[in-house]
Amino acid sequence: MDAKILYMNGEYIPAERGFISVRSHGFAYGTGVFEGIRGYWNEEQKQVYLFRLREHYERLHRSCKIMRINLPYTVEQLIEHSVELVKRNEQQQDVYQRPVAYKSDEIIGVRLHGLHDDYLLTSEPMGNYVEIGGLRCGVSSWRRIDDNAIPARAKICGSYVNAAFAKTEAIQNGFDEAIMLNHEGHVSEGSAENIFLFQNGELITPAPSENILLGITRDTIIQLAQKELGINVRERQIDRTELYTADEIFLCGTGAQIAPVIEVDHNPVGNGTTGPIGQKLQDLYFDIVRGRNSKYLDWCTPVYSE
Ligand code: PMP
Repeated sequence: MDAKILYMNGEYIPAERGFISVRSHGFAYGTGVFEGIRGYWNEEQKQVYLFRLREHYERLHRSCKIMRINLPYTVEQLIEHSVELVKRNEQQQDVYQRPVAYKSDEIIGVRLHGLHDDYLLTSEPMGNYVEIGGLRCGVSSWRRIDDNAIPARAKICGSYVNAAFAKTEAIQNGFDEAIMLNHEGHVSEGSAENIFLFQNGELITPAPSENILLGITRDTIIQLAQKELGINVRERQIDRTELYTADEIFLCGTGAQIAPVIEVDHNPVGNGTTGPIGQKLQDLYFDIVRGRNSKYLDWCTPVYSE
């Protein structure tokens, strides 16, 4: 069932009243920024935990700054809206929240300056995670947008056209997901996921300057690998051919969570099944996000507190 309530322009309103104008600047030109946040239902505790809300809203603020969007709420206020919206929808299930800050003027004329901005937040039920058992990926012929074209480190609505080209090409070529290279031909990320390779006993992931979104799941994995598995993590340039020699590869993101890659361009990764490091990180991650690991409760915002 779809959510009944959403938050828009400072009010909680019935979802059927949640419209923006067909003339809205954000719609015509993609001049908005957004986040994707997951909340996980914990059945034993009858609790929804929203994962790493603070980091999502800090990133939203940075995206707004890059796009010259005035977001009139502090991180604390944005967190409050997220919690309140789950409550108002009486959600006792996994949820996916989408905050969007966008240029709302109904004008023709492409620019960033001198425009009004609006903000909305939705909280939709999200089905249980289905184990997909390993992704078959293809290296995309579409290049990841460059920092000097549309900044990849901001989560800008319009930049998802780039992701959509890559994703559709991958699906039409019979793959599950795309791996995108940047303009220099180095590995960047999936269509909407960051990427990790495990080789020679360490995890490697593209450095921030490789035109990636600085993912919150990426940060979670870096911390877990180091603290829980004692594995060294290196952020560096990665060549395409390393995708063909890595022992393990996985994609990660709020939506994808941790998704092992079992093939790249029809070459098996490792022995062609989920590897032990990806599996361990996945197990840790699923416990943590549902609030079942007391060490990482700081990352989980409870909705239904006493
Ligand atoms: N890269 C891109 C392009 C994305 O859209 C996403 C999803 N937000 C990610 C990486 C992963 O980021 P996060 O872990 O913060 O969801």
